[in-house]
Amino acid sequence: MTTAPGLAQENSAMGSGKNNLTYGQLFQDIKANKVSKVEIDPNLQIASVTLKGQPQDAKPKTVRLFKTNPELIELLKESNVTWGIRRTPDHSALFGLLTHVLIVVILIGLIAIVIRRSANMSGQAMSFGKSRARFQMEAKTGIGFGDVAGIDEAKEELQEVVTFLKQPEKFTAIGAKIPRGVLLIGPPGTGKTLLAKAIAGEAGVPFFSISGSEFVEMFVGVGASRVRDLFKKAKENAPCLIFIDEIDAVGRQRGVGYGGGNDEREQTLNQLLTEMDGFEGNSGIIVIAATNRPDVLDTALLRPGRFDRQVTVDYPDLDGRHKILAIHAQNKKIAPEVELATIARRTPGFTGADLANVMNEAAIFTARRRKEAITMAEVNDAIDRVVAGMEGTPLVDSKSKRLIAYHEVGHALIGTLCPGHDPVEKVTLIPRGQARGLTWFTPDEEQSLMTRSQLIARIAGLLGGRVAEEVIFGADEVTTGAGNDIEKITYLARQMVTKLGMSSLGLVALENEDGTNYLGGDWGKRSEYSEEIAARIDKEIRWIVEAAHRRAIQILEDNRALMDRLVDLLIEQETIEGEQFRQLVAEFHPLPDLKTMTPV
Ligand code: ADP
Ligand code: MG
Ligand code: ZN
Repeated sequence: MTTAPGLAQENSAMGSGKNNLTYGQLFQDIKANKVSKVEIDPNLQIASVTLKGQPQDAKPKTVRLFKTNPELIELLKESNVTWGIRRTPDHSALFGLLTHVLIVVILIGLIAIVIRRSANMSGQAMSFGKSRARFQMEAKTGIGFGDVAGIDEAKEELQEVVTFLKQPEKFTAIGAKIPRGVLLIGPPGTGKTLLAKAIAGEAGVPFFSISGSEFVEMFVGVGASRVRDLFKKAKENAPCLIFIDEIDAVGRQRGVGYGGGNDEREQTLNQLLTEMDGFEGNSGIIVIAATNRPDVLDTALLRPGRFDRQVTVDYPDLDGRHKILAIHAQNKKIAPEVELATIARRTPGFTGADLANVMNEAAIFTARRRKEAITMAEVNDAIDRVVAGMEGTPLVDSKSKRLIAYHEVGHALIGTLCPGHDPVEKVTLIPRGQARGLTWFTPDEEQSLMTRSQLIARIAGLLGGRVAEEVIFGADEVTTGAGNDIEKITYLARQMVTKLGMSSLGLVALENEDGTNYLGGDWGKRSEYSEEIAARIDKEIRWIVEAAHRRAIQILEDNRALMDRLVDLLIEQETIEGEQFRQLVAEFHPLPDLKTMTPV
């Protein structure tokens, strides 16, 4: 029998209390026959000890026990102490059980949620097209033909579609078949969406719209089901108009492109064709689609009964731009001296969207400058901004500012001295967008044909920036600033050789409009010529560019003093307007000189 003193000591904290005994004391007391009764509670690990001679109502003394106490029980058995085991209800055990149950319940709950969720997901994937149709429907577009300007031919052609929707009996009575699909072809921003909305607005029918790119989803089959849903909804709402934007996203030539085609896209396209074929005689639904890439469309789309009507929506001409500006000026305060015709003249090549943007930017500038009405200053700033991006802060005078000034003056000077080049509108050192300086030219109004000498003049003008760097700072100091210019030069020269028949290769078209497009259906169109021809093309391009280069060098070397003068003025003023620029050039260049220049 051993009593471990160490253990007894550990219990001394409890044993020191008045009503407590240590484990060791209990052993001694039992041996000394002082104890009458011991009750052991294994759950709380204590023993309640009643000593002999203790008053009846006195509280029994407690002794801290260990988890198992074989030696104590042994001792108690040997002695004649009344002893027993009494368990207090074990709360900790109950608690433990409860937590276990709780954890299990929570786990089951979590699993249930996860299962339900994944069930939902798969359900969604299957009924994706149904539950989340991505088409929009406008009961009334609120847009009429009055809101569309500058594309009169398209408007006229589509006037008929309005009548189809409004009074189909007019056509069916005489046995005319109503067209099902109209394809609007034109560059972005020319008003195709606007036009489709105007048709719906004029006819007073609902406008359903979806973008081709939205048909094409991760899941195979979703696009097709979206097409089905769209047509189903449309049939319920007939007469109505369905507008499919960017139809080239789904309607590309089937069976070509990467990896032999895209299943999802083909299915979607097939569904679209099926739906369009499924229209009964006159279902009152007209489908209008828009694209800027008609060349890549699957020919099946263009067959009779589908998108057999094609309407070109082109860039507006001078008069058209004037009218579009008038539409977007309607709700704006404009100073009386502003002439929309002048703005129209300054904006060749702008689309309707660009013009709307110009008027909006001008209004923003006006508000920012706290003016009452839009003046020409705001309009001009807005045009510059739409063309070239946001204005930056000019550089402080430094070597690099001087270099940029020479670069820009180089462009402008060659542009002025080469006959046939568009006149300079202004030269500026105020950076905009990516450009650190800019030279603006006024393109000849509505000119659609260019002569060979005009093209060469343009190439020389584009070279002017780099050549000025070369002439002034030397061949080792040329900068990266001409990267963009060189790209344009290469493009122009290549066009002259391969498309325009303006080289010694003769009158052959060697390249397709979309020679570079390899995503769609024009594999292999690029190189229809031999390597020998390819080498000759490169040589011709080089000749053209080199000739223009020599010419640019000559002009700038001959006009060194004039260049210095213009650069000083440009650095002083930051901007030189075209008129002032030409006056200065004229001081150095009596007019006859210009005439004697020989074209390349
Ligand atoms: P697209 O669909 O051809 O890319 P949008 O119809 O979306 O061009 O044109 C965008 C916006 O530009 C229109 O909402 C409208 O404000 C303006 N816009 C474009 N073309 C015209 C136009 N011919 N007449 C009036 N506004 C136009
Ligand atoms: Mg659009
Ligand atoms: Zn340049």
